[in-house]
Amino acid sequence: MCGIVGYIGYEQAAPLLLNGLEKLEYRGYDSAGICLNNGEKLIVEKAKGKLEVLKKLTENGTTLSGTVGIGHTRWATHGEPSDINAHPHLSESRRFAVVHNGIIENYIQIKEELSKRGIQFLSKTDTEVIAQLIEYDYQGNLVDTVIKVLSRLEGSYALGIISKDNPDEIIAVRKESPLIIGLGENENYIASDVTAILTKTRKIYRLENNEIAVIKRDSIDIMDMDKKAIHKDVETVSWDISAAEKGGYKHFMFKEIMEQPKAIHDTITPRIKDGRVVLNEIQLTDEQLKAFNKINILACGSAYHVGVVAKYVFEKVLRKPVEVDLASEFRYRDPIVDEKTLTIVISQSGETADTKEAMKEAQRRGSHVISIVNVVGSAIATESDDVIYTWAGPEIAVATTKAYSTQLAVIYLMAIYMGDKLGTINSEAYSQYVDELQQLPEKITAILNNKESIQNLASKNFNNRDVFFIGRNIDYALSLEGSLKLKEISYIHSEAYAAGELKHGTISLIEQGTLVIALATHEALLGKIISNIQEVQARGANVIGVACDNRSEISEVAQNVIFIPPTCDMFLPSLAVIPLQLFAYYVASLKGCDIDKPRNLAKSVTVE
Ligand code: GLU
Repeated sequence: MCGIVGYIGYEQAAPLLLNGLEKLEYRGYDSAGICLNNGEKLIVEKAKGKLEVLKKLTENGTTLSGTVGIGHTRWATHGEPSDINAHPHLSESRRFAVVHNGIIENYIQIKEELSKRGIQFLSKTDTEVIAQLIEYDYQGNLVDTVIKVLSRLEGSYALGIISKDNPDEIIAVRKESPLIIGLGENENYIASDVTAILTKTRKIYRLENNEIAVIKRDSIDIMDMDKKAIHKDVETVSWDISAAEKGGYKHFMFKEIMEQPKAIHDTITPRIKDGRVVLNEIQLTDEQLKAFNKINILACGSAYHVGVVAKYVFEKVLRKPVEVDLASEFRYRDPIVDEKTLTIVISQSGETADTKEAMKEAQRRGSHVISIVNVVGSAIATESDDVIYTWAGPEIAVATTKAYSTQLAVIYLMAIYMGDKLGTINSEAYSQYVDELQQLPEKITAILNNKESIQNLASKNFNNRDVFFIGRNIDYALSLEGSLKLKEISYIHSEAYAAGELKHGTISLIEQGTLVIALATHEALLGKIISNIQEVQARGANVIGVACDNRSEISEVAQNVIFIPPTCDMFLPSLAVIPLQLFAYYVASLKGCDIDKPRNLAKSVTVE
């Protein structure tokens, strides 16, 4: 999820590694570390917190000698941020060192197996199993060993590996997490991101999935898993640092919108085994789950909007009453919550002050709290009774996109998992849900591939003074997020309304040319929303509809329609939010707004 850098050459590696890690700092991280081969052994320094701590510890890298090394900034996914959990990780006899970005899904199984054979683990990370497996399987040839180890690993990884016995090579390999090789004169680099090496070289090779590279001072051999040589053309990077940080895009928000298929994939895949949702994080027995008579959801901002979607989903699938509360309101209203209430709190940062305090209030009243959080080891994650992490990776843009989407994905997983335990979904629905859930990343990719059509709509609509988002049921829940996205980054006044509620007041605001974005994905209520579209059009509104591509009737009433692929009703917000995010982004971009840092807003709201 975070940063890797590696160096092999004739200069002292440590200062170069620290310099590379500094260039990766923009991504956010919780700890950092480096490991070098000093000719005799592997030496490691790592520390929780900012790179500054590591720099002080190593006197800017001068206390470690060696001309080959690997470095890492960690965004924890397994094991809290700490000195011990920071990378690089060593094998038991300190013969091999590994840095890793990504998630090893089957690490518990491997860890148990190795522990039974007497291998001692130091950290709580998934990564350490890689270092230990390499040592366990090693029979004299590191490339062969790595290939063997990879065949055991499930999940995503970019890896940099060095060994005590060979100070003349770095092994690099990747699957689903990016890794590049930087080409120098008598020196070479590896990095998760070109920014880390851009001041040193612009010539790179991009490793593809399941390619393995042996990198020496004056040679680079790339091969597939059968050790068949792969020829690659050298790519010359023309981006400046600022463009490179954003993966070549203009803004982090756009990069994060584009990362959503992967973020959702990373969040759901490790939790689906053989067609079954496995949520080991929820430590409640079936009896305890059955005993709850109410679900209480607490959150702020976009996370609250996820909660509103969850209300529709849980009530439908679990047949339990659900209350969604703004955390800041819940705290001070003497809520009716007790040990028969299951509380779910949602926060990207895990540090949102209002959500944290609301959670404590629920706990004081005896409620069991499950949190949905993106930052491992954050206050809410630590203090809740159970935590389910969204594996979105660091989110930098203030306006959330991939955190919102992965929070939704966790809600879906919970609905399927708990519905099964409670006996409220049958096996046919269960399989259909799991199947559709797994297809979401692909369907989102298809919508993203069509982004130019949204850009086109934005170019015709960025001058509006007011915009109304309307929808019914789950589309209403989504309209809240669509409206917030638009107003927070473009500063256009927008409102979200339950479509049936319009005629009770708001319709008086519709005038000639007012833009109304009508969400019409929910099939059962299509006829109703079509009537609402006709009502606003009769008063002069310009309507953009969002509908499933198997329901074309909306084209007859709306001036423009954005189509999305169909899926189960409850998953529709995951697809329909994508065009809304893109629309907000393009509108804000056309208006020249500071998209990644909208005025008056902060990423993590740690004040009341
Ligand atoms: N899953 C690994 C860990 O938690 C790697 C995290 C990362 O990509 O930074 O240590």
